[in-house]
Amino acid sequence: MKPHPDSGGDDPGGTSVTTLTGVGPALAATLSRLSIDKVKDLLLHLPSRYQDRTSLIPFKALRPGQECLVQGQVTDSRINYGRRRSWMVTLNDGDGTLRLRFFHFAARQVEALTVGRFVRCFGEVRLGPTGLEMAHPEYRDYAKPPAGLEDSLTPVYPTTKGLSQGRLRTLIGRLRELPWPKDSALALDTLLFLHFPPAGATSEDIAEAQEKVARDELIAYYLVMRLRQRQRQSQQAPPLPRAQQLGRALLDQLGFELTSAQRRVLREVLLDLERRQPMLRLLQGDVGSGKTVVAAFAAIRAAEHGAQTALMAPTEVLAEQHYLSFSAWLEPLGIPVALLTGGQKKKMRTSIRARLANGEALVAVGTHALIQANISFHNLALTIVDEQHRFGVHQRMALRAKGHTPHQLIMTATPIPRTLTMALYADMDVSILDELPPGRQPITTRLVAASRRDEVLAHTGRVLDAGQQAYWVCTLIDESEESPAQSAEAIWETLPAKLPGKRIGLMHGRMKSDEKAAVMAAFKSGELQLLVATTVIEVGVDVANASLMIIENPELLGLAQLHQLRGRIGRGAHKSTCVLLYGEDLSEASRTRLKVIRASQDGFHIAEQDLALRGPGEIAGTRQTGETRFRVASLERHAHLIPAIVREGDRLLAEAPEAADALRLAWAGDEAQLAGAAAV
Ligand code: ADP
Ligand code: MG
Repeated sequence: MKPHPDSGGDDPGGTSVTTLTGVGPALAATLSRLSIDKVKDLLLHLPSRYQDRTSLIPFKALRPGQECLVQGQVTDSRINYGRRRSWMVTLNDGDGTLRLRFFHFAARQVEALTVGRFVRCFGEVRLGPTGLEMAHPEYRDYAKPPAGLEDSLTPVYPTTKGLSQGRLRTLIGRLRELPWPKDSALALDTLLFLHFPPAGATSEDIAEAQEKVARDELIAYYLVMRLRQRQRQSQQAPPLPRAQQLGRALLDQLGFELTSAQRRVLREVLLDLERRQPMLRLLQGDVGSGKTVVAAFAAIRAAEHGAQTALMAPTEVLAEQHYLSFSAWLEPLGIPVALLTGGQKKKMRTSIRARLANGEALVAVGTHALIQANISFHNLALTIVDEQHRFGVHQRMALRAKGHTPHQLIMTATPIPRTLTMALYADMDVSILDELPPGRQPITTRLVAASRRDEVLAHTGRVLDAGQQAYWVCTLIDESEESPAQSAEAIWETLPAKLPGKRIGLMHGRMKSDEKAAVMAAFKSGELQLLVATTVIEVGVDVANASLMIIENPELLGLAQLHQLRGRIGRGAHKSTCVLLYGEDLSEASRTRLKVIRASQDGFHIAEQDLALRGPGEIAGTRQTGETRFRVASLERHAHLIPAIVREGDRLLAEAPEAADALRLAWAGDEAQLAGAAAV
C-alpha cells in the first residue's frame, strides 16, 4: 500500500524498535522482555506512576509514606556502628529536621556531605526510631541552596534488569519526533500526554487520560472477543442431536431429581450440541450446585453418536473423583469410561492410550495427562474443562486440538461478577447454575481468634466423636521463616496430642499422586476422621460426611478461595460449621472481608463484594488472573467502565465496522499481542 501523502510515510508504530536510533540487538532483546518489539509497543508502554518533583515539601509537612522532593542543610553526619552499620545525615530546612539513613555507602560520599552543605533529595518518607527519615534517597549536594524545579510530573516506567529509567525515558523521548499519522486509531495525543505530561498537569489530569486509554484498550479487547465469537460461528462441529434414550436412562437411575437450574442449563448445553457450530459455553455454578452431572449428560449425548468426550480436571484427586462418578453413571448404560492421570503406571497408561486412540473408550476423564503429545482420540466431539481457572489458555486449546473443532464446555465454581463476564467472556455463551440441590444444610461460619484454639479443638473432638468428619486447612505446607502462618505439617504433628485416639491424615500438593489418592480414599471411606490439608482440597472434593472445616489464617486467602474451600462441607445431611481461625493483628480490611464470607454463602454475592473490596485482580477465575494482562487497563480501576465499553463496542460493530477494525488492530494487532485474546 502506498503511504498516504500527508501521513509522512508508513505508520511508524508498526516498525521494529530497532529502527529507532540507538537500539541495537542487545537493547532490542532487553526491550523484548518487556513485550516491546515494535515502536507501537513502546508508545503503549505507559508510566506505571509519576513522581512529583515540581515542588519542595517543608520537613514539617512530611508524612510517612509520602514520596517527595525535599531540601535542607546538613547539621550532622555520623556513622553508627550498631548491629548493622549505618550512616545518618541530619538535615535542617530552617523549620524542621529530617534524617537520611544509608546502609550502603562509600567513604567519599561521607566525606562530601560535610556540615553546612545543602542537600536536595527525593525519596520515601518513613517513621524511623528517632522520627521521620528517608532511607537511601536519591540526592545531590550543593554549596549554596539550589534553585529551579522540574515543571512537570516525572514518569516512572515499568522496567527490567539492564534497562535504567533514564535510558528508557530517553528512548521514549524519541517517540515525539516520529511522523505519526493523524488518523491513528490509537489516541496518540493522550498517549503522548501520559509520556510527557505538560507543566501544570495534575494527577487528576493523568488519571483522566489513563482512563481514556484504558477505555480504548477494553473496547479493543471486547471487539477481539466478538470477532472470535463470529469466527467460531463459521466453523463446523459434529452436530449431536438427540439419538437414543440414554440420558433418560441415567435420569431414572440417578437417585435424585435434577434441580430446575440443572434442567435449564442442561437444556442450553444439549441445544448447543445439536448445532453445527462448535459450542463454547461457560458453565458457572457455585460449589455444590451439581455441575458434574450436567457434564455427564453432555458426555452421554456424544456417546450416543459413538463420539468421544474428554473431561479434564486440574488435580488427580478431582480427576479420580470424576472418574468414579462418571463410571457409576455411564458404565451401566454401556458407555466405557477411562481414567488417565500422570500418576498412573506406565503399562496402564499405554493400554488406556490405545483405547482412546481406537475410540473404544468413549469418555476420558483425566488431568493434564490428557493433553500430552502422545495422546490422540479417535473422534473427540466434546471437551469439558472443570475448574477452568486452574488451567492456562494453552492447556484448554491443547485439549481442543485433540479433536476437530469439538464442542467445548468450560466449568467454573468461582462465580464471576456479571459486569466482568460481559466483557471478558464476550466470546462465550454463559450458563449459570444458581440453585443448590435440596436438602443442603446451610453452613454456619464463625470468625474465631487463634488464641481460642483450644475451644476449637474441643469442638472438633465432639464432631469426630459424633461420627462426622472434618477438614483442617492450612495455607502453608511447612514452617516458613517469612510467614507466621500455621503450616499443615506443623498442625498435623501437634494434633494427635490434642485429639488423642483420632485418625488424622495429611495431604498437601508436594505429596506423590498415589499418596494423595490413598489419603483421599481413606478420608472418603471414613477410615480417616480428620484431614489436615493445604488448599489442594480447594477444588471439587466431595465427602458428604464432612461437616466441619477449620481454616487457619483465612486472612491470607482470597474470598473466592475461602468460598471454594468452605464448599467442601455442607454437602450432606449434617449441620456444618466453618471456623475461620484468624491470626493475631487482623487488619480492619481483612476483618471486613472475612465478614463477607461469614454473612453469605452465595458465591455470586461474594464475588461482587470481593470486586468492590479488592478489585478483580484478586478474583480467581476471571481472565485477569494469569492470562489477561492489559497494557493499560486495570480491572481494579476500570471495571466500572465495562457496561459503557460493551455498549460502545456494540455500537461500533453496528455503525462503524471499519473504525471497530482499526481500533481492534491498533491494540491487538495479530491478536497474540493481546495476551488475553488467546482462544479458549
Ligand atoms: P459442583 O458443582 O461443585 O462440581 P458436584 O457436581 O460435585 O458439584 O455435586 C455436588 C454433589 O451434589 C454431588 O455429590 C452430586 O452427586 C450431588 N448432586 C448433584 N445434583 C444433585 C441434585 N439435583 N440433587 C441432589 N444431589 C445432587
Ligand atoms: Mg465440581
